[in-house]
Amino acid sequence: MKPYRIAAIPGDGIGQEVIAAGIAVLDALAERAGGFRFAFDRFDWGSDYYKAHGVMMPADGLAQIKDHDAIFFGAVGAPDVPDHITLWGLRLAICQPFDQYANVRPTRILPGITSPLRHVTGPELDWVIVRENSEGEYAGVGGRVHQGHDNEVATDVSMMTRSGVTRIIRYAFELARSRPRKRLTVVTKSNAQRHAMVMWDEIAAEVARDFPDVTWDKMLVDAMTMRMTMKPQSLDTIVATNLHADILSDLAAALAGSLGIAPTANINPERRFPSMFEPIHGSAFDIAGKGIANPVGTFWTACQMLEHLGEKPAADRLMRAVERVTADPALHTPDLGGTATTQAVTDAVIAAIRGDN
Ligand code: ATP
Ligand code: MG
Repeated sequence: MKPYRIAAIPGDGIGQEVIAAGIAVLDALAERAGGFRFAFDRFDWGSDYYKAHGVMMPADGLAQIKDHDAIFFGAVGAPDVPDHITLWGLRLAICQPFDQYANVRPTRILPGITSPLRHVTGPELDWVIVRENSEGEYAGVGGRVHQGHDNEVATDVSMMTRSGVTRIIRYAFELARSRPRKRLTVVTKSNAQRHAMVMWDEIAAEVARDFPDVTWDKMLVDAMTMRMTMKPQSLDTIVATNLHADILSDLAAALAGSLGIAPTANINPERRFPSMFEPIHGSAFDIAGKGIANPVGTFWTACQMLEHLGEKPAADRLMRAVERVTADPALHTPDLGGTATTQAVTDAVIAAIRGDN
């Protein structure tokens, strides 16, 4: 039987709890589906590792995970380690060298979950946000001089390349084409940012010629926040820069009911390197160790991982089980207004998988 080798990196805070839940669910799913199984290798990298070793992961860390079929990632961040160290030292230290340039974030209102938008019900909000994940505002280009003095200067340079923009827009058009509505919205800020953002608009128009079957339009990011809240049904696939999509996808997660249910996939489409699957949320130290973290975002990203591995029927089976569980308010964790524990939700999803025909 084919084993998928998965590098599990639970990381910090509730990352530990949700990845444990995700592994239990994936093992139950493989048992139910037959035909494949998982071999998880666990890597204890993160803030505790940093406190012991001065780095977030070992120097040969990438070599240890580069031949795995996928990476299943929890969260990083701790109250007593600066955020730029945890982020750049682990998450981006994997995303960037593995060229996971497409960050894919589906958003839907799952059964039983209410949107804070009173006028919006399930079928009206069904999006997938594609975030450029390798350059742009988070390219790490910039610097500080005269630190601490009155004449201090600091810059963050947003760096966009024609090849980088073309490949993410092409990826987004392909994804839009694969969805029933075949609709793409390209988000920029090309009125105020008159160099790279204008290039985005130009490249979008060029790439669009190869996709005559996809309906597409352009939006400025500020107007986009309004459209997401006022006319969610007018959107389907969305592509935006690293920074813009970071912000829009937190908004999207909140509109779908909770950050705790939102998934994300960091994809290397060419499959030269493993792709990485994680919930959108962070380490959430305010609730860590209490056993109440919502594991649904992790289960949903496990579906993304299964699809990436070519196990679409198993992905569908897992999503059905998750939706059966979210439909029951008694199985909502506190972030959704309920009292259920991580364990109770996990057990219920496993039971739903076992009972699924
Ligand atoms: P990061 O900097 O890593 O993005 P953050 O400080 O922005 O982290 P998150 O961990 O993303 O914070 O979460 C913000 C808040 O949302 C948390 O404090 C927590 O209360 C809530 N939250 C996030 N994820 C979950 C979850 N899975 N289940 C329940 N509540 C959650
Ligand atoms: Mg955050």
